[in-house]
Amino acid sequence: PRDCFASGTLRESSETPQGNERQHDQGVTMKVTSSLIELIGNTPLVDISSIVPAGGAKLFAKLEYLNPGGSIKDRPALAMIEAAERDGRLEPGMTIVEPTAGNTGIGLALAGNLKGYRTVFFVPDRMSHEKIVLMQLYGAEVFLVDKCHGMTGCIERAHAYAAQHGRCFVPLQFENPANPEQAETRLGAEIEQQLGYVPDGMAIGAGTGGTFTGLARWLSNANPDSVRWLVQPEGSVFRGDEKRPYLVEGIGNSFVPKNLDLHLAHRILDIPCTVAFARCRDLARRLGILTGGSGGANAEAAIQLCTQLGEGKSVITVFPDNLERYASKEWVRNLVQGEN
Ligand code: PMP
Repeated sequence: PRDCFASGTLRESSETPQGNERQHDQGVTMKVTSSLIELIGNTPLVDISSIVPAGGAKLFAKLEYLNPGGSIKDRPALAMIEAAERDGRLEPGMTIVEPTAGNTGIGLALAGNLKGYRTVFFVPDRMSHEKIVLMQLYGAEVFLVDKCHGMTGCIERAHAYAAQHGRCFVPLQFENPANPEQAETRLGAEIEQQLGYVPDGMAIGAGTGGTFTGLARWLSNANPDSVRWLVQPEGSVFRGDEKRPYLVEGIGNSFVPKNLDLHLAHRILDIPCTVAFARCRDLARRLGILTGGSGGANAEAAIQLCTQLGEGKSVITVFPDNLERYASKEWVRNLVQGEN
């Protein structure tokens, strides 16, 4: 169960429930919702300290896969649409065109449908079949781009499509300031409210950098002594290494996006994909948490940070999407068969 607040508002837990809300004995507020947009955000924060070796810090994870579109990217998708509506870049009848690894596309299609916009996405063809089908189920037009052109190829194709067709809005999550802003103002505030204090550290992966940069800005302001680790799969270029192929989806990149502020990271930690995937299986078996490869990488890095910070400290991370979204991938079949 989760708290369902009106879109964008955080309410003090001491406030009395009103209207059609009903207070249950566990303090969970339930209310009838008329739009899934209202259900974006306010995800549960779970104490997963039991997976940290003895003597380590406490570890808390935001279950972002419980957003209505199934991932953390529902949040920036909605924020980028609403910012563009406010400043007139997005008007009724226009088409939203975006390069995406899939989850942003799913979030944009969900919010776009409810607001009456057509959606067109350019996706590297290595991304999971499930994410592509979900975008198509929402009615989006999906163009697969050969993985040898990577995300930069998708960005070029999206711009070319918009120029050719006109009346298009390209949110461009890699540069759009609304992407990190929503993580700084809303995701950070949710964590602080749920914990009741500001944590000592964070370990979070980056694709566009929106989540990392936003949360790192919030945490460095709220706790200047905090320790902030950026997580990437081995083969991503955020430490200046040459790009090599990797299997984890959603984190890592072939370039450093504008929205990724590397200055906010005390350390950039490489997690091998096999280690991230093994951690996904561990989370499923020990805690019932189904999270994709980026969640496994985040958990692995966060455990290492907990060990470094030690007892009495606290660390946060996020589980961006659900393992179900990768069920057709070979690495998931290997997890089931006991291989890594
Ligand atoms: N994990 C997954 C599965 C994702 O799809 C994304 C989005 N690319 C991220 C993590 C990273 O989020 P961000 O774009 O905010 O860096």
